[in-house]
Amino acid sequence: NPPSDMAATGDFPEQLRGVISNAKQFLTTAISDNRTQIAALGEVSSQCQATSDPRPIIENLVKELSNATTRASALETNFLETTQELDKIRDSLKVAEQRSNTDALTGLANRRSLEEFFRSAQIVAMEKGGPLSILMIDIDHFKKFNDSYGHQVGDQVLRLVAKVLQDNVREDDLAARYDGEELIAVLPGANLNVCAGVAERIRRRISEARLTRRTTGQEIASVTVSIGVAQFRLAESAEAMVERCDRALYQAKRLGRDRTVTEDDIDGEIVAAKSI
Ligand code: GH3
Ligand code: MG
Ligand code: MG
Repeated sequence: NPPSDMAATGDFPEQLRGVISNAKQFLTTAISDNRTQIAALGEVSSQCQATSDPRPIIENLVKELSNATTRASALETNFLETTQELDKIRDSLKVAEQRSNTDALTGLANRRSLEEFFRSAQIVAMEKGGPLSILMIDIDHFKKFNDSYGHQVGDQVLRLVAKVLQDNVREDDLAARYDGEELIAVLPGANLNVCAGVAERIRRRISEARLTRRTTGQEIASVTVSIGVAQFRLAESAEAMVERCDRALYQAKRLGRDRTVTEDDIDGEIVAAKSI
């Protein structure tokens, strides 16, 4: 697979320089060939004036024209090759870019890509005045999964949760791995209620999913998640919003896990819990 090989070397400037220098060399040769050819045609033309026998003149002309055709087709071939190489380089760049935005374990967007997406979603929300919400997922008792089944099964659980998340958001939304076993989805255009609805659907689908151990076929205890939901407030920072979402998530954990809590439910609940 040449594109990924090239992506692996990561040396695009070197590759580009190679392609360009080949093309330049070929053009230089083609131009000098062309000069030689024009000179040759000039000779044929002066032969015309010097002799009355047309045969050698015609033979020369045919020879020069055939040379010209050969050169033109070589030029065309070289041009095609150059174009193909440039296409390959462009594909490699795309693969490399894709990789730098993706979390390797889950295939979701990585943290860097999440921050970039959120920044532009924030700008759109401020310019157009539409809502923008996020949901944050944390796997319940994930440590227990790792401890009882091993880290690899833990990874499998994480991939399952990531897949359900990805499958349940829209194309214009972004699903990302925020940190360890914490995932975030950004939903442009969704208000708190809509986002909470999406979160509930995700939570339900995860708790319904059944996982079996690949090696033994043994069924793995079902997975549940807790989800916090927050809506963007004009001009606040991403950190402020994530912090609020995290507090809602923490509240979901305190209320017994396997549930969705929005920022609207934070304060009252905390006060109530304290007064007990
Ligand atoms: P809860 O969230 O319900 O309070 O309990 P928890 O057991 O999930 O608690 P906590 O969030 O503190 O633990 C997170 C664990 O997730 C710790 C870490 O070992 C595990 N973890 C984080 N990233 C990965 C990963 O990429 N793969 C695996 N297998 N485990 C991970
Ligand atoms: Mg956690
Ligand atoms: Mg957890």
